[in-house]
Amino acid sequence: MLGAVLAGNSKVEVREFPDPEPQPGEAVVRMAISAICGSELHSYHSPNGSDGSIPGHEMAGEVVAVNGTRHISVGDRVVLQIMTGCGRCYYCSRGDFEHCDEMGYLIGGHAELIAAPEMCCLPLPDDVNWERGVLLGGDTIGTTYRTLRRLRVSAFDTVAVLGCGPIGLGMLAVLRYLGARAIATDVSPYRRDLAQRMGAWQVLDPEAGDPTAAILDLTGGAGVDVALDCSPAQATLTTALNCVRKFGRVGLVGEKGDSIIHPSDHFIRKEIEAAGSWYFNPSDYREILDLYRRGLEVDDLVTHRFPLAEADEAFATFASGQSGKVLLTR
Ligand SMILES: [Zn+2]
Ligand SMILES: [Zn+2]
Repeated sequence: MLGAVLAGNSKVEVREFPDPEPQPGEAVVRMAISAICGSELHSYHSPNGSDGSIPGHEMAGEVVAVNGTRHISVGDRVVLQIMTGCGRCYYCSRGDFEHCDEMGYLIGGHAELIAAPEMCCLPLPDDVNWERGVLLGGDTIGTTYRTLRRLRVSAFDTVAVLGCGPIGLGMLAVLRYLGARAIATDVSPYRRDLAQRMGAWQVLDPEAGDPTAAILDLTGGAGVDVALDCSPAQATLTTALNCVRKFGRVGLVGEKGDSIIHPSDHFIRKEIEAAGSWYFNPSDYREILDLYRRGLEVDDLVTHRFPLAEADEAFATFASGQSGKVLLTR
């Protein structure tokens, strides 16, 4: 089979690999769509790349082989959730495998085939096409949905979305469905335009001035009800804490090392709530499918599609910031 490897220093090579054989309890899935995630960019730019392994952790496809699986058969359409766990602990019993002490990842979606434990194979209903399946059953909507649910976001809220990479854009898709008013910020003009097309009420360039001042201005000085940090930039969490109103809510989804927090000013005086989300679980996925059937629209998140053989161009496009979600296809 063919698989894409991050070859280091922003190069991608498509190489030949042996076809995977399903181990007991596994299915082999033939990729239909594998989406590129912002979290892959660090390895993409690094000298070592993906160290010879195949990245990709947002993938949907058809089961082509199984070995002793209980509920998954050849021909099933599935979307892969990537977290695996022991299956017995408190967190696994809730489906929150990412919190299991024995947590593992299923990585390797940017390939023609992948072997997946049965627990990773979420059935993709016939009324959900491959592209929507990858968005609804992957990080893009899964993680964002979970954050918005934890923060009880509704149509009453004005929400700042700080960073409009795929996760910020996923937030905008769910906020549009909810009818909440969104203020979106991003340094990329392309992504600001996309955010506007996706229904953001206002879009701001955080480098054009003080984003906190601009957001306070737009909200009559009060601040937003909810601020979502969807960026890897160090400053955006501080901005989120500064621009949220008293008793407001802050969501942390942008992975980063350090950020500046003033506990007295931000948390104690303002009495805000904060929630971080890393991933989602199979029950979130069921709720997301429900929202989809009630009208959640995600198609405009995707701006580019490339066949697996053109993975190098796909990554370059995504890394340029001149894209929304970029998909690899068969
Ligand atoms: Zn991801
Ligand atoms: Zn466990």
